[in-house]
Amino acid sequence: MLHIGCHLSCANGYLAMGKQAVEIGADTFQFFTRNPRGGSVKPFDREDADALVSFMQAHAFAPILAHAPYTLNAAAADPKVRDFAFRTMREDLERLAYIPGAMLNFHPGSHVKQGPEAGVRLIAGMLDEVYTPELPTTVLLETMAGKGSEVGRSFEELRAIMDASRAGDRLGVCLDTCHVHDGGYDIVNRLDEVLEEFDRIIGLERLKAIHLNDSKNPLGSRKDRHEKIGQGSIGLAAMERIINHEALRGLPFYLETPNELDGYAAEIRLLRGAYHGDEGAEEHV
Ligand code: FE
Ligand code: FE
Ligand code: ZN
Repeated sequence: MLHIGCHLSCANGYLAMGKQAVEIGADTFQFFTRNPRGGSVKPFDREDADALVSFMQAHAFAPILAHAPYTLNAAAADPKVRDFAFRTMREDLERLAYIPGAMLNFHPGSHVKQGPEAGVRLIAGMLDEVYTPELPTTVLLETMAGKGSEVGRSFEELRAIMDASRAGDRLGVCLDTCHVHDGGYDIVNRLDEVLEEFDRIIGLERLKAIHLNDSKNPLGSRKDRHEKIGQGSIGLAAMERIINHEALRGLPFYLETPNELDGYAAEIRLLRGAYHGDEGAEEHV
Protein backbone atom coordinates (compact mmCIF):
# COMPACT_ATOMS: atom_id res chain seq x y z
CA MET A 1 0.00 0.00 0.00
CA LEU A 2 1.36 3.37 -1.01
CA HIS A 3 0.53 5.98 1.64
CA ILE A 4 -0.01 9.16 -0.26
CA GLY A 5 -1.83 12.45 0.05
CA CYS A 6 -1.39 16.08 -0.77
CA HIS A 7 -1.43 19.48 0.82
CA LEU A 8 -5.01 20.55 1.62
CA SER A 9 -6.53 23.81 2.79
CA CYS A 10 -7.78 23.81 6.36
CA ALA A 11 -10.31 26.58 5.61
CA ASN A 12 -13.25 24.28 6.36
CA GLY A 13 -11.77 22.51 9.34
CA TYR A 14 -10.21 19.16 10.14
CA LEU A 15 -12.96 16.69 9.22
CA ALA A 16 -13.49 18.42 5.85
CA MET A 17 -9.83 17.73 4.98
CA GLY A 18 -10.20 14.04 5.86
CA LYS A 19 -13.23 13.73 3.58
CA GLN A 20 -11.51 15.63 0.78
CA ALA A 21 -8.49 13.31 1.04
CA VAL A 22 -10.68 10.22 0.61
CA GLU A 23 -12.43 11.83 -2.38
CA ILE A 24 -9.15 12.23 -4.26
CA GLY A 25 -7.87 8.74 -3.48
CA ALA A 26 -5.52 9.77 -0.66
CA ASP A 27 -5.04 8.05 2.68
CA THR A 28 -3.30 10.98 4.36
CA PHE A 29 -2.83 14.73 3.88
CA GLN A 30 -0.81 17.74 4.94
CA PHE A 31 -2.20 21.09 6.07
CA PHE A 32 -0.94 24.42 7.38
CA THR A 33 -1.53 24.82 11.09
CA ARG A 34 -2.28 28.51 10.46
CA ASN A 35 -1.85 31.26 7.89
CA PRO A 36 1.48 30.22 6.28
CA ARG A 37 2.69 33.78 5.60
CA GLY A 38 1.36 35.41 8.73
CA GLY A 39 0.68 33.32 11.75
CA SER A 40 -2.89 34.05 12.75
CA VAL A 41 -4.85 31.00 13.81
CA LYS A 42 -8.51 30.05 14.20
CA PRO A 43 -9.73 28.97 17.64
CA PHE A 44 -9.21 25.25 18.21
CA ASP A 45 -12.33 23.14 17.57
CA ARG A 46 -11.87 20.03 19.69
CA GLU A 47 -15.05 18.39 18.40
CA ASP A 48 -13.91 18.79 14.80
CA ALA A 49 -10.48 17.34 15.69
CA ASP A 50 -12.14 14.34 17.39
CA ALA A 51 -14.36 13.83 14.33
CA LEU A 52 -11.28 13.75 12.11
CA VAL A 53 -9.57 11.22 14.39
CA SER A 54 -12.58 8.84 14.15
CA PHE A 55 -12.81 9.39 10.41
CA MET A 56 -9.09 8.62 9.97
CA GLN A 57 -9.45 5.41 11.97
CA ALA A 58 -12.48 4.30 9.93
CA HIS A 59 -10.60 4.94 6.68
CA ALA A 60 -7.22 3.50 7.79
CA PHE A 61 -5.31 6.74 7.29
CA ALA A 62 -1.55 6.95 7.49
CA PRO A 63 -0.23 9.67 9.85
CA ILE A 64 -1.16 13.19 8.76
CA LEU A 65 1.34 16.01 8.61
CA ALA A 66 0.90 19.53 9.92
CA HIS A 67 3.15 22.19 8.37
CA ALA A 68 4.25 25.15 10.47
CA PRO A 69 4.03 28.61 8.86
CA TYR A 70 6.90 29.88 6.68
CA THR A 71 7.21 32.92 8.93
CA LEU A 72 8.43 30.70 11.74
CA ASN A 73 12.18 31.31 11.96
CA ALA A 74 13.78 29.73 14.98
CA ALA A 75 17.23 30.87 13.78
CA ALA A 76 16.38 34.58 13.63
CA ALA A 77 18.70 37.09 15.29
CA ASP A 78 15.70 39.12 16.51
CA PRO A 79 14.45 37.68 19.82
CA LYS A 80 10.88 38.80 18.94
CA VAL A 81 10.95 36.61 15.82
CA ARG A 82 12.33 33.70 17.82
CA ASP A 83 9.63 34.23 20.44
CA PHE A 84 6.95 34.04 17.72
CA ALA A 85 8.52 30.77 16.55
CA PHE A 86 8.48 29.41 20.09
CA ARG A 87 4.87 30.42 20.83
CA THR A 88 3.61 29.21 17.45
CA MET A 89 5.24 25.83 17.72
CA ARG A 90 4.18 25.33 21.32
CA GLU A 91 0.55 26.16 20.49
CA ASP A 92 0.57 23.94 17.40
CA LEU A 93 1.96 21.04 19.43
CA GLU A 94 -0.70 21.54 22.11
CA ARG A 95 -3.40 21.25 19.43
CA LEU A 96 -1.80 18.33 17.63
CA ALA A 97 -1.74 16.38 20.88
CA TYR A 98 -5.44 15.73 20.18
CA ILE A 99 -4.65 14.04 16.84
CA PRO A 100 -2.70 10.86 17.63
CA GLY A 101 0.02 10.03 15.11
CA ALA A 102 0.01 13.48 13.52
CA MET A 103 3.47 14.95 12.98
CA LEU A 104 4.58 18.59 12.79
CA ASN A 105 6.93 19.60 9.98
CA PHE A 106 8.85 22.88 9.99
CA HIS A 107 11.53 24.68 8.02
CA PRO A 108 14.50 24.81 10.40
CA GLY A 109 15.10 28.50 9.68
CA SER A 110 17.36 31.09 8.07
CA HIS A 111 20.42 32.33 9.92
CA VAL A 112 20.63 35.65 7.99
CA LYS A 113 24.36 36.52 8.28
CA GLN A 114 24.82 34.92 11.71
CA GLY A 115 26.36 31.81 10.11
CA PRO A 116 25.04 28.24 10.01
CA GLU A 117 26.60 27.26 13.37
CA ALA A 118 24.71 30.03 15.15
CA GLY A 119 21.57 29.01 13.25
CA VAL A 120 21.92 25.41 14.37
CA ARG A 121 22.39 26.51 17.99
CA LEU A 122 19.33 28.79 17.97
CA ILE A 123 17.08 26.16 16.34
CA ALA A 124 18.16 23.48 18.79
CA GLY A 125 17.62 25.89 21.68
CA MET A 126 14.08 26.67 20.53
CA LEU A 127 13.26 22.96 20.28
CA ASP A 128 14.59 22.41 23.80
CA GLU A 129 12.32 25.13 25.15
CA VAL A 130 9.26 24.06 23.18
CA TYR A 131 9.37 20.35 23.69
CA THR A 132 8.02 19.22 27.02
CA PRO A 133 7.46 15.52 27.80
CA GLU A 134 3.63 15.80 27.78
CA LEU A 135 3.58 16.87 24.13
CA PRO A 136 3.54 13.59 22.15
CA THR A 137 3.86 14.90 18.58
CA THR A 138 6.96 14.04 16.56
CA VAL A 139 8.54 17.17 15.07
CA LEU A 140 10.14 16.90 11.64
CA LEU A 141 12.93 19.07 10.29
CA GLU A 142 12.39 19.57 6.56
CA THR A 143 15.33 19.24 4.17
CA MET A 144 15.78 22.65 2.55
CA ALA A 145 16.88 23.75 -0.94
CA GLY A 146 19.51 26.09 0.50
CA LYS A 147 18.18 29.36 -0.89
CA GLY A 148 19.41 32.46 0.92
CA SER A 149 20.75 31.51 4.34
CA GLU A 150 18.46 28.53 4.95
CA VAL A 151 19.74 26.07 7.52
CA GLY A 152 19.12 22.41 6.71
CA ARG A 153 20.23 22.07 3.09
CA SER A 154 22.82 19.47 3.99
CA PHE A 155 22.18 16.28 5.90
CA GLU A 156 25.09 17.34 8.14
CA GLU A 157 23.24 20.50 9.25
CA LEU A 158 20.10 18.54 10.10
CA ARG A 159 22.24 16.08 12.07
CA ALA A 160 23.90 18.98 13.89
CA ILE A 161 20.50 20.37 15.00
CA MET A 162 19.48 16.95 16.33
CA ASP A 163 22.80 16.54 18.13
CA ALA A 164 22.60 20.01 19.68
CA SER A 165 19.05 19.57 20.98
CA ARG A 166 18.01 17.71 24.12
CA ALA A 167 14.85 16.82 22.16
CA GLY A 168 17.08 15.15 19.58
CA ASP A 169 15.71 11.63 19.89
CA ARG A 170 12.14 12.91 19.46
CA LEU A 171 12.94 14.66 16.19
CA GLY A 172 12.58 13.26 12.70
CA VAL A 173 13.21 14.42 9.16
CA CYS A 174 10.86 15.12 6.26
CA LEU A 175 12.72 14.76 2.96
CA ASP A 176 11.42 17.09 0.24
CA THR A 177 12.43 15.72 -3.18
CA CYS A 178 12.40 19.15 -4.85
CA HIS A 179 14.47 20.65 -2.05
CA VAL A 180 17.17 17.96 -1.87
CA HIS A 181 17.45 17.97 -5.67
CA ASP A 182 17.77 21.78 -5.77
CA GLY A 183 20.13 21.47 -2.81
CA GLY A 184 22.51 19.33 -4.90
CA TYR A 185 21.61 15.73 -4.02
CA ASP A 186 21.25 13.80 -7.28
CA ILE A 187 18.15 11.72 -6.56
CA VAL A 188 17.62 11.25 -10.32
CA ASN A 189 20.85 9.38 -11.13
CA ARG A 190 22.17 8.47 -7.69
CA LEU A 191 19.15 7.74 -5.49
CA ASP A 192 20.78 4.74 -3.76
CA GLU A 193 23.88 6.77 -2.91
CA VAL A 194 21.85 9.73 -1.61
CA LEU A 195 19.79 7.49 0.65
CA GLU A 196 22.95 5.72 1.83
CA GLU A 197 24.42 9.11 2.65
CA PHE A 198 21.24 10.04 4.53
CA ASP A 199 21.49 6.81 6.47
CA ARG A 200 25.15 7.33 7.30
CA ILE A 201 24.76 10.94 8.48
CA ILE A 202 21.24 11.10 9.93
CA GLY A 203 19.97 7.50 10.02
CA LEU A 204 17.06 6.23 7.91
CA GLU A 205 15.12 5.46 11.10
CA ARG A 206 14.81 9.26 11.50
CA LEU A 207 13.16 9.64 8.09
CA LYS A 208 9.41 9.92 8.81
CA ALA A 209 7.88 11.55 5.73
CA ILE A 210 8.52 12.48 2.11
CA HIS A 211 7.37 15.64 0.33
CA LEU A 212 7.01 14.39 -3.23
CA ASN A 213 7.54 17.28 -5.63
CA ASP A 214 9.12 17.67 -9.04
CA SER A 215 11.36 20.71 -9.52
CA LYS A 216 11.27 23.57 -12.03
CA ASN A 217 15.05 23.98 -11.75
CA PRO A 218 18.22 21.96 -12.34
CA LEU A 219 20.17 19.92 -9.80
CA GLY A 220 21.95 22.13 -7.27
CA SER A 221 20.12 25.32 -8.30
CA ARG A 222 19.14 26.12 -4.66
CA LYS A 223 15.86 27.53 -5.91
CA ASP A 224 12.86 25.67 -4.38
CA ARG A 225 10.20 25.98 -7.09
CA HIS A 226 7.94 22.92 -7.11
CA GLU A 227 6.68 21.38 -10.35
CA LYS A 228 3.95 18.86 -11.15
CA ILE A 229 4.99 15.20 -10.96
CA GLY A 230 6.81 14.18 -14.15
CA GLN A 231 6.92 17.72 -15.59
CA GLY A 232 10.13 18.97 -14.02
CA SER A 233 13.82 18.20 -13.88
CA ILE A 234 13.33 15.17 -11.60
CA GLY A 235 10.93 13.43 -13.95
CA LEU A 236 8.47 10.57 -13.69
CA ALA A 237 10.97 7.70 -13.90
CA ALA A 238 12.87 9.03 -10.87
CA MET A 239 9.59 9.59 -9.00
CA GLU A 240 8.68 5.95 -9.64
CA ARG A 241 12.04 4.82 -8.29
CA ILE A 242 11.50 6.96 -5.19
CA ILE A 243 8.04 5.67 -4.27
CA ASN A 244 9.17 2.09 -4.90
CA HIS A 245 12.54 2.32 -3.13
CA GLU A 246 13.03 -0.32 -0.47
CA ALA A 247 14.46 2.17 2.03
CA LEU A 248 11.34 4.34 1.77
CA ARG A 249 8.74 1.60 1.93
CA GLY A 250 5.82 2.36 4.24
CA LEU A 251 6.61 6.06 4.63
CA PRO A 252 3.83 8.59 3.94
CA PHE A 253 4.27 10.68 0.78
CA TYR A 254 2.78 14.17 0.53
CA LEU A 255 2.39 16.05 -2.75
CA GLU A 256 3.05 19.80 -2.65
CA THR A 257 2.86 20.23 -6.41
CA PRO A 258 1.19 23.24 -8.08
CA ASN A 259 -2.26 21.70 -8.46
CA GLU A 260 -5.94 22.08 -7.71
CA LEU A 261 -7.78 19.10 -6.25
CA ASP A 262 -8.43 17.38 -9.60
CA GLY A 263 -4.73 17.66 -10.46
CA TYR A 264 -3.82 16.08 -7.13
CA ALA A 265 -6.33 13.28 -7.73
CA ALA A 266 -4.68 12.59 -11.11
CA GLU A 267 -1.18 12.54 -9.61
CA ILE A 268 -2.28 10.20 -6.84
CA ARG A 269 -3.85 7.87 -9.42
CA LEU A 270 -0.67 8.00 -11.54
CA LEU A 271 1.58 7.20 -8.58
CA ARG A 272 -0.63 4.46 -7.19
CA GLY A 273 -0.52 2.88 -10.67
CA ALA A 274 3.28 3.10 -10.70
CA TYR A 275 3.66 1.58 -7.24
CA HIS A 276 4.69 -2.06 -6.97
CA GLY A 277 6.25 -2.01 -3.52
CA ASP A 278 3.81 -4.57 -2.16
CA GLU A 279 4.62 -7.14 -4.86
CA GLY A 280 8.32 -6.58 -4.19
CA ALA A 281 7.74 -7.17 -0.49
CA GLU A 282 6.07 -10.49 -1.20
CA GLU A 283 8.95 -11.66 -3.36
CA HIS A 284 11.33 -11.22 -0.44
CA VAL A 285 9.33 -13.58 1.80
FE1 FE B 1 7.84 22.95 3.55
FE1 FE C 1 8.16 20.61 1.31
ZN1 ZN D 1 9.46 23.95 -1.20
